[in-house]
Amino acid sequence: MAELLTLPGVARKTANVVLANAFGIHHGVTVDTHVKRLSHRLGLTEHTDPLRVERDLMPLLPQMDWENWSIRLIYHGRSVCDARQPACQRCVLSDLCPNNQDVQRPRS
Ligand code: SF4
Repeated sequence: MAELLTLPGVARKTANVVLANAFGIHHGVTVDTHVKRLSHRLGLTEHTDPLRVERDLMPLLPQMDWENWSIRLIYHGRSVCDARQPACQRCVLSDLCPNNQDVQRPRS
């Protein structure tokens, strides 16, 4: 990680992808815009800064699944949980998601 971060244009997101896919090293969770948005929507972090989101996610997930988690959230963000119009009615996470738009939540 430290060596990759010395390369021009390489930050933690790219370094995590390279380490996991090229070397099988799970050093951290790749946080792109989808991972950040969905982790927030799923109530797994309150942060928006990618590094703080990554730090929140790491203890929640088995280390071997850190890269798979990111890939799955990216696909989910592209196909179901759109930034502007999430398709909550067909979302497999709808029972777990605190931001399910189809649920009428009681007012407190
Ligand atoms: S229930 Fe809705 S807001 Fe929650 S993850 Fe699914 S699509 Fe996104």
